[in-house]
Amino acid sequence: MQYAVVDGQRRQPFPGARGCCPICGSAMIAKCGPRILHHWAHYGRRNCDPWWENETSWHRRWKNLFPDDCREVCHTASDGEVHRADIKTPTGIVIEVQHSSMTDAERISRETFYRNLVWVIDGSVFRQNFHICHLLPGPGTELAQDLVWAKAIRTYATARGIFYRKSEILPEDTLVTIHGIHEIEEQVNQSYRGHHQYDWIRPRRTWLDASCPVYIDLGDNFLAKLEIYDEYRLPCVRLVSKRKFIHDVMNESKAEAIATRFYPITSVESE
Ligand SMILES: [Zn+2]
Repeated sequence: MQYAVVDGQRRQPFPGARGCCPICGSAMIAKCGPRILHHWAHYGRRNCDPWWENETSWHRRWKNLFPDDCREVCHTASDGEVHRADIKTPTGIVIEVQHSSMTDAERISRETFYRNLVWVIDGSVFRQNFHICHLLPGPGTELAQDLVWAKAIRTYATARGIFYRKSEILPEDTLVTIHGIHEIEEQVNQSYRGHHQYDWIRPRRTWLDASCPVYIDLGDNFLAKLEIYDEYRLPCVRLVSKRKFIHDVMNESKAEAIATRFYPITSVESE
């Protein structure tokens, strides 16, 4: 943990420090070795929150993108159950940053507990198996309404973009004309809103079934949000810059609203 209570204050670990756990009140000891991520640990007993996973530097980097008082926030349900959210924003959105894989049961219990929740998944562990493929036109655009895409498979031409047009199908037709994305490249570029097909080898299925939004951190300056593209339930990702995500999660009040609206973000920081 990054915080314990020392003399009534939330404090980060420092050498030799003792404190107490903000959830269970038991004694904690600061672990500040030269080769470890500095953290607080319960003294002589397991972590009191069964949902807690050991922090990696990836977790810590994510938490540190948010103000102090948004990190490790205790959340109590009406039945008295208490858990420590990785990040909770002033507008009430909980962000769980998840490195380890998770069972469906665990995922569902957290979604039920927090409700207004967004997942950020560490994709560095399966990055070699996660292929972001061709651009798709924005789902709301006129172009998108007419096209039906073949599911992208990394080693096939479908990874580059293969489709047919609904407007070209006649009632008596049993065959359709197959097109390649190169025929409409300019139109696709113009209606692009960040959507792509992807091919995930050995996917972690629980994230495909999640009811709260899932953003995968592949280590780039964008996140890949898992979405369903169209009425044929084509899976897609939508690329959202980390800067946009962090801005929106601090300003929107519902997890689903993140990255749905345009805000002029004024910042000198480059992407
Ligand atoms: Zn505790």
